[in-house]
Amino acid sequence: MADTDVRRPYVVALTGGIGSGKTTVSDLFAEQGVPVVDTDVIAHELVAPGQPLLASIVSALGQELLDAYGRLRRRKLREMIFTSAETRATLESLMHPRILEEAERQILALKAPYCILVIPLLAESGNRDSADRVLVVDADTASRAERLAARDGMTRTQIEAALAAQASRDQRLAIADDIIDNSGEKSSLPQKVSSLHQRYLSLADEWRRSADEPRTVPFG
Ligand code: ATP
Repeated sequence: MADTDVRRPYVVALTGGIGSGKTTVSDLFAEQGVPVVDTDVIAHELVAPGQPLLASIVSALGQELLDAYGRLRRRKLREMIFTSAETRATLESLMHPRILEEAERQILALKAPYCILVIPLLAESGNRDSADRVLVVDADTASRAERLAARDGMTRTQIEAALAAQASRDQRLAIADDIIDNSGEKSSLPQKVSSLHQRYLSLADEWRRSADEPRTVPFG
């Protein structure tokens, strides 16, 4: 199959626990010219005022989720999903398909050998097959707690609650094809990203050459 027949890039999912360094690492891939599709950014955009998804969420979970300007009350929503598993499930069932659909749309529009797809909750969703390869950014809990306190002013209790609501490090590492250890200095990251970049370029090339048919369908 000619190279030009292959229509979507190889997809490397990037995941990691809260405060592990996902954004720092994805920014470094972007600096290498790699397109980054971020499901957190997509999720934010999909619930902007006036978006149909926001209307669906409000109609399912309550009018009190909107402020006087028609904006989503994020803190209120966070409280609601923390205290009710049912509310969380409803929210996820509304948001996940739309996020995936939009991510697929963005990926199909890319012209690149591979892209980074940032999916913070990949280990939790069990949706490992939404990517060709999984890169986990990992850092020890103490470093993450320290960085979150410095970045967001989060208290120890808030950090512990956030960590408890997520998959464990081991669960996340179990789905990894590659791991970036970000427990150390930030200055060690560019070298790690640059060597993974070379690896992904060659994996993407192999993948493209081994295709029997045009790869037009994301995650196919
Ligand atoms: P979140 O889960 O909240 O989206 P994240 O996984 O995207 O976070 P970053 O925002 O990249 O993580 O990093 C968290 C904070 O830690 C940021 O302030 C970042 O600058 C800092 N940071 C990242 N890596 C390191 C490091 N190796 N050493 C010190 N600080 C770091």
